Amino acid sequence: MDREQVRRWETQCIQEQPPACATGCPLHVDARQLVECVTRGDFKAGLAIIAGAVPLPLILAHICDHPCQAQCRRCEAGDAIEINALERACAGFGGTIASMRIPSPKSHKVLIAGGELSGVSAAILLAQKGYEVELFESGPTLLGSLRSLGETQLPKQAITADLDALSFLGVTVRCNTALPFPAGSAEPESLLRACDAVYFEGRVWPLPDTGSSLTLATLHAGIFAGSTLQQQSPIRAVYEGSVAAISVDRFLQGASLEAGRDNQGAYASRLYVNTKRLTAFPAVRTTEGTSYTKDEAQQEAKRCIPCQCLECVKVCEYLEEYGAYPKRYVRQIYNNECIVMGVRNGNRMVNSCSLCGLCTEVCPENFSMADVCLDARQSMVRKGKMPPSAHDFALRDMAFSQSDAFTLARHQPGFQSSQTAFLPGCQLSASSPQQVAACYEHLRTTMPGGVGLILQCCGAPARWAGDEEKFQAALSALDAAWSSMGRPRLITACSSCFKTLNEHLPHIPIEPLWPHLDPALLAKTPPEPASRTLAIHDPCSTRGVRQVEDSARALLGRLGIDVVELNEPGLTTCCGYGGLTLFVNPALADKTVTRRAQQSDVDFVTYCAMCRDRFAHQGKRAIHVLDLVFANVSSDPAARRDPGFSERRDNRARLKAQLLREVWGEEGNAVEPSIKLQISEDTRLLLEKRMILIEDVRRTIEYAESTGDKLESSTTGQSLASFRSGCVTYWVEYSRLGDELVVHDAYFHRMEVR
Ligand code: SF4
Ligand code: SF4
Ligand code: SF4
Repeated sequence: MDREQVRRWETQCIQEQPPACATGCPLHVDARQLVECVTRGDFKAGLAIIAGAVPLPLILAHICDHPCQAQCRRCEAGDAIEINALERACAGFGGTIASMRIPSPKSHKVLIAGGELSGVSAAILLAQKGYEVELFESGPTLLGSLRSLGETQLPKQAITADLDALSFLGVTVRCNTALPFPAGSAEPESLLRACDAVYFEGRVWPLPDTGSSLTLATLHAGIFAGSTLQQQSPIRAVYEGSVAAISVDRFLQGASLEAGRDNQGAYASRLYVNTKRLTAFPAVRTTEGTSYTKDEAQQEAKRCIPCQCLECVKVCEYLEEYGAYPKRYVRQIYNNECIVMGVRNGNRMVNSCSLCGLCTEVCPENFSMADVCLDARQSMVRKGKMPPSAHDFALRDMAFSQSDAFTLARHQPGFQSSQTAFLPGCQLSASSPQQVAACYEHLRTTMPGGVGLILQCCGAPARWAGDEEKFQAALSALDAAWSSMGRPRLITACSSCFKTLNEHLPHIPIEPLWPHLDPALLAKTPPEPASRTLAIHDPCSTRGVRQVEDSARALLGRLGIDVVELNEPGLTTCCGYGGLTLFVNPALADKTVTRRAQQSDVDFVTYCAMCRDRFAHQGKRAIHVLDLVFANVSSDPAARRDPGFSERRDNRARLKAQLLREVWGEEGNAVEPSIKLQISEDTRLLLEKRMILIEDVRRTIEYAESTGDKLESSTTGQSLASFRSGCVTYWVEYSRLGDELVVHDAYFHRMEVR
C-alpha cells in the first residue's frame, strides 16, 4: 500500500473530526465528552474536561456566554443541549480540581498589563509553561468587573479557587499598579529593557497598534495586545489571553507565530451528523434562577446525540464487526501489511469486506472501504504475503469454470455468425442450469441474426481475491472467446459479469437479459408464486446501474408482480458472497445475509442467482426472477434449497453436456465415476460447512482404493484415506456397504505430512 494514499484515505474519513459544540467554542472545550460524563453522573470528570481546556474553569463554568450552544446539532430535533448549565453543574457537583503540575522554570520574564479575564488567563497559561510572570492591575483587585455579580450567578468561592492558581504558580500580582515604563520613555519597546515580552490585555490601557488578530502581535516585536472585543464576552476574553500566551511562548522560543494556527478559535465542524431520524425532545428546564439538580443535569445530558458520523458502520455488518470505523481500519490494514507483515487477524479483516460499495454510497465524503481492502489484497498478493488458504477454494472453483468442463463458445445451430451471444455467467449455471437452457432457447427463438452462447467466467473471483494476474488472464480468455464469435453484442444474466465487462472490457457491448425476455411469447405457463407481492433485492454488483435495476423491475411489472422496495435507490446490501467474504469469514457472511433477510417478512425476488441461493441458505424464501418466467423443477421455487458447493460445480458440467447434446446434437464424453458414494444429508451439510467438495472426497477414496494406501480400523472396520491436492490434504473416513462406499467424515489441512 502506498503511504501517501493511506494518508489521503485517513483524511477522507471525518469520523474523528470534533463535533460542532467543540469547534463552536473558541477554546474547543470538548462538550460532547463533558456531556457524556454528566450522563454517567461523573461530574468530577466533567469538571476536569473544562479545567483541561480553559485556565479559569470554575468562573467560566458559571458565566461563559456559551457560543457552542448555538452550534449544537441537537437543535435540529428539539432544543440545543444546555451546555452552559451542564458546565455549571460540573462546577457545582464536581468537587475540587486536581492540582496543577509545577513546571520547570524558564529564564524569560513576561509582563502582563491588565488583571481581568484575559490578562489573568494569559498569566496562568504562561506561568504553567515555566515563565516568570508579573501581572499589573491598575484597580484594587483582580477580576474587578466580576466581583459585582451575584452569588447565584458567580459564587465568590469560584473566583477565589480559580485565582489560587496564580499564587500556586508563583505569579507576582501587583494591584493598584500601572505597568511601569522606564523613566522618560513612553515607547512600547522600552518595556523590553525590564522583561522579554509584554501582553496588554486591551481593556483600559492605551494599546500599541495591533498587527494580527491571529497572533495578537503588535507592530513592535515582543509586544502583544488584546482587542476591545473581549469586553463583550467572557469566553472571548479568556480566548484572547490564551492566544497571547501561545504567541508569547512562540516568540520567546524563536518559533513561527503563525504556523499551524488555522483551527484556532471557533470554526465550522467538518463532522457529518445525520439528524434525520432523531426524535425531538425539549431541553430540561429549571426554575428561574436555580441550577440543575444532579438528576436534572443527567436527564439533560442524555439528550445529546452524541454527534458522530459512522454512517457506513450503521449499514455494514463488516464495519461493525471490527468495532471501529474506516479511519482506524485504514491504519490497522496498513500496519498489518507493512509493519507486522500480515498477521492472521489483520488478513481476515482485509479479506472480509464484500467490496460492495455501500459505504461509499452513504459516506458524506465518498470514502470507499472497498478500495482500501482491494488495494491491500492486491498488494499482499503481489508481495507474496497473502496466505494461499484465504482464497484457495474460490480460486479453484473459478479455475473449474475456466476449464474445458464448463467453457463453451458456439454459434446458434444453423448460423455461421452471431449477431448476439448469451453469457449466462457461472453462478446462474451453477444454481439453475435448467433456467440457462430455457433462456437460451427463448433468445434463439425470439431474436434475429443468430444467438450464440458463451459459457465462461468473467474472472470476478480473482479480482476480489486481489490476484490481478489470474484476473487479467480470465479477462483475456473471455475477450478471446468473444472475438472468436465475431464480436457480437453480449446479453448477460449475471450482474457481476455486467459490472466486470463494463469496467474492464469496455469495448464489448453488453446488456442485461431482462428486457429481452417476453413472457407473452412463452409457450409454457410458469408456476404461480405463493404471493404476487415480492420484496426486491438488487445485487450489489450493479448497485445504482439503472439500466439493470430498472429493466429487472420492468420485467417483474410485465409478470404482474407488485414489488416492495427494501431500500432507497442505490442502497442495496451484499448477500455475503461478494468480495469472497463467504469463503474467508462464513460467520460474517451469514450475519450479512441475515440482516438483509430480516428487513421484510415478504418473500424476496432477486435477479442474481448467488443472492437467491444465499437467502435460501439462511432459510429466507427467495425467488429468482427467471423462476417467474420459466417452469422450474420446483412447484414452489421460493422454497428451493441452496444447491451447495458440490452441486454447483456438478451443475455447470452437466449444463455444458446437456446443451451440447440438446442444442448441437453432440454427445459429451461424460466419465462415469468408478465408485458409488453414499452420503447422508448430515454428512453432506458437514462437507458444505467445511468447504469440501464431494469431488474431493471421491478422489481421496479412489486414490486409497486403487493404491491400498489407507488405514483400517480393526474394531469399526472403517477406513481412513488421505489425498493431497495442491496445498490441501484431504482426509476421509468411510466404510464399504455392498458396492457402495459410505462416507462418515471428511476434513482437510494445509500442512504437508511426510
Ligand atoms: S448534540 Fe451533543 S455532541 Fe452534538 S453538538 Fe450538541 S452537545 Fe455537542
Ligand atoms: S462490505 Fe461493503 S459497505 Fe462494508 S466496508 Fe466493504 S464495501 Fe463498504
Ligand atoms: S461514513 Fe464512515 S468513512 Fe465516511 S466519514 Fe463517516 S465514518 Fe468515515
